[in-house]
Amino acid sequence: MNRAALWRVVLDMPLRRPFDYLPPKDDPGKPIMPGTRVRVPFGRQRLIGVVVGAAASSDIAPERLRPILEVLDAEPVLDPPMLALLNWAADYYHHPIGEVLAAALPKALRLGAAAAALSTRWVASPAGRAAAADGEPRRAPQQRRVLLQVMHNESCSARDIAALFPGARAALRALARRGWIAALEEGRTRPAPRTAPTAQGFALNEEQHAAVATVGASLQQFGAYLLHGITGSGKTEVYLHLVARVLAQGRSALILVPEIGLTPQLVGRFRERFAAPLAVLHSGLTDRERLDAWREAFAGDARIVLGTRSAVFAPAHALGLIVVDEEHDASFKQHEGGFRYSARDLAVVRAQRSGVPIVLGSATPAFETLFNASAGRYQRLALPRRTAQAQAPHLGLIDLRVNAVQAGISTPAIDAIQRHLNAAGQVLIFLNRRGYAPTLLCTACGWTAACAQCDARLTVHQAAGRLRCHHCGADAPLPASCPQCGFAVRPVGQGTQRIEEKLAELFPGVPIVRLDRDAVRKRGDIEAAMQRMASGEARILVGTQMVTKGHDFPNVTLVVVMNADQGLFSTDFRAPERLAQTIVQVAGRAGRGDRPGEVLIQTEFPDHPLLRSLLADGYDGFARTALVEREQAAWPPFSRLAAVRDSAKSAAAALEFLTAARELARPPPTRNCSLKLLTAARCIAFLTAGSARSSNCPAPGGCAGRSMWIRSNYSECAALVDCAALHRPDNRREAATRGASAQRPGAPGR
Ligand code: ADP
Ligand code: ZN
Ligand code: ZN
Repeated sequence: MNRAALWRVVLDMPLRRPFDYLPPKDDPGKPIMPGTRVRVPFGRQRLIGVVVGAAASSDIAPERLRPILEVLDAEPVLDPPMLALLNWAADYYHHPIGEVLAAALPKALRLGAAAAALSTRWVASPAGRAAAADGEPRRAPQQRRVLLQVMHNESCSARDIAALFPGARAALRALARRGWIAALEEGRTRPAPRTAPTAQGFALNEEQHAAVATVGASLQQFGAYLLHGITGSGKTEVYLHLVARVLAQGRSALILVPEIGLTPQLVGRFRERFAAPLAVLHSGLTDRERLDAWREAFAGDARIVLGTRSAVFAPAHALGLIVVDEEHDASFKQHEGGFRYSARDLAVVRAQRSGVPIVLGSATPAFETLFNASAGRYQRLALPRRTAQAQAPHLGLIDLRVNAVQAGISTPAIDAIQRHLNAAGQVLIFLNRRGYAPTLLCTACGWTAACAQCDARLTVHQAAGRLRCHHCGADAPLPASCPQCGFAVRPVGQGTQRIEEKLAELFPGVPIVRLDRDAVRKRGDIEAAMQRMASGEARILVGTQMVTKGHDFPNVTLVVVMNADQGLFSTDFRAPERLAQTIVQVAGRAGRGDRPGEVLIQTEFPDHPLLRSLLADGYDGFARTALVEREQAAWPPFSRLAAVRDSAKSAAAALEFLTAARELARPPPTRNCSLKLLTAARCIAFLTAGSARSSNCPAPGGCAGRSMWIRSNYSECAALVDCAALHRPDNRREAATRGASAQRPGAPGR
């Protein structure tokens, strides 16, 4: 290979271009693979960046170019399909590439930790010994030397081998990949990775068999599959069978799940089924644990990588399959911080770039996914029946206008709870609002508690004696009287804590568990709450979205949905979809034993067409009705939606930026496209009035007045406008440093 004149290095900064560096002084002729970490000088600092390619020349004056200080990896930490994915993401989400790359690597690696654990000890596997006896590996003398060295000792530390043979780290990894040596962490002994299933699983039913056969027939190429089956229809069993096939080919599988804490059953089933070590990645890990899990996956030690959304960037040796379980789940969307993305959509792109199949599983697929399936982009595999003998639950509505209500609980609901408790059943109460009450109101002057930081309303947390902002996290003491007029204040509306309190009063002596983000603060809290329900000790479970996921409660025979109306009349265009998913998911948790379940939905609008179609035709019918509405209103997936956000110290500065962006976003006259600026005027008006949360904004959850949404029916157009806004030379720097971001929700894989 020719000497590279320059290396392009991407740094973790809000800038949209790589930096040029001269080759390292000590070994200038050595090629550096894209995806390799390097240490470089940057001003007075030394930073760690990632090489993305070579260049023959630079715009920078030659005397200003400086050499790379150190190459940190013998083998790239980001392989070519991963780099392709990250470049795609930077482009699609209009986010600086350096920050995208940084998001894909654990913090410890960004700080310079070695990609392979040096304290690792290696042992030769039986297969490795057999191979060595046959004179293998013939064409890799360094690997052979290392293999023999490992064989002649009971175990060898990577550090010792590195001292004996230059470049040994790459040889170790190559041997590990072939299964000829296995890592033995210091202090604990681990069996060599065995990939054969330890348990066989069930004989698949006809539909499961068809699903496994379809995906299994094209394991070596990209294909997107929607595995559409109700809870308990055997989706997990399908994943397990496919993973077994992939492991048998010596490849690895990546499994994405919404929340590990809520799905211990799934992790358990993978552990039980396969002897192969599992790397588990989720947000609850310490930096050290995350690094360890990453290293296991990178070294090919773990052949199954299971994790939450950011695991979409996890390394995987010879990736063979991606599974996204509960693909509709909102937690796959990273909507905080700098780099925002949909892990489900990125997983599809990763599968495409890696040439492997992806299975998206759900009982209630996202509308985008259903749309992609009907457009033929995804192949739909249906599991229409429950494997376990269970009847579908009965759904009914309770009209809140004609029934008496106590703290939001209607009399028919109270009667039903009593009836199910008497029949030894358990009850699940779902309310999507944590805290005690959503507002504190003065009955004399009409004052309500607003957040001083963001103008959202503050939620009452009675037990803690605090007012908390669920929007920005602000926290204030609960006032005893109105700060404006001194009169009495009272909590208005319902939160999970208030419902729990009311239920305790209505059903004295009946043990109640609450499950929401306030109730579970540390590791193990969720498990403890679930355990109280599973053991039958607790009889009523009150909770938010959390209760709709993962766990099955065969003894739960009644589910009460406290309020469907938030979902029907929200300004967020996705709210009805989420409402239906919640109802169906929560209903699916109930009555899985031999008892039929009953689901009661409280609403003031029992004749609403969407509720009617949900009751009459189930989720699929509901989705068809709602998709027609979306098409008529030109919402995604029938259009593209982009948000241009800005946060600045003063409202005026943000306003100025958004106004300028709006000017740039006017549709180019030559383009045949319809482009609308949504609520920009309204949001900006709100913003000038003190950055209030705009209740008119279509952004999921509102936009706090700091965003502008652009909608277009022409996919290229949205890209064009926000590129224009953000990439114009005089705007670029400012946009970058302000952290303006754009995102276009919608289907990838164009
Ligand atoms: P899902 O992931 O769709 O909720 P699971 O794969 O968890 O469904 O299956 C539901 C239950 O049925 C589990 O207890 C599972 O062990 C069992 N099961 C799955 N497939 C079969 C089968 N082919 N035969 C018998 N039981 C099965
Ligand atoms: Zn008052
Ligand atoms: Zn706030």
